[in-house]
Amino acid sequence: MKKLYERMAETGCIACRLSNQKQITRTEIHHLRSGMGMSQKNIKCIPLCVDHHRGSKCGYHGLGRKRFESLYGSEEYLLKKWMEEHGEIDWDEYS
Ligand SMILES: [Zn+2]
Ligand SMILES: [Zn+2]
Repeated sequence: MKKLYERMAETGCIACRLSNQKQITRTEIHHLRSGMGMSQKNIKCIPLCVDHHRGSKCGYHGLGRKRFESLYGSEEYLLKKWMEEHGEIDWDEYS
């Protein structure tokens, strides 16, 4: 999983990228809700900068899922966009 995190961190924040914003804070890994609470297997993740991850103005955890997704699209959508640019991820490999 570490390898994937590193790879994602290198590519930068996907929300900045899609909204044409200049990323000013470092990249963190956000785990998708859909994979949480169930099995620990196949937990998907996306790269988000600190602002888009937990910032109070535009962050996923700062705004809450609904408001964040109304601005940037769903987590699954952001993940899909990331994979379109950087290649599909074989989640089994990381589980
Ligand atoms: Zn960002
Ligand atoms: Zn998160």
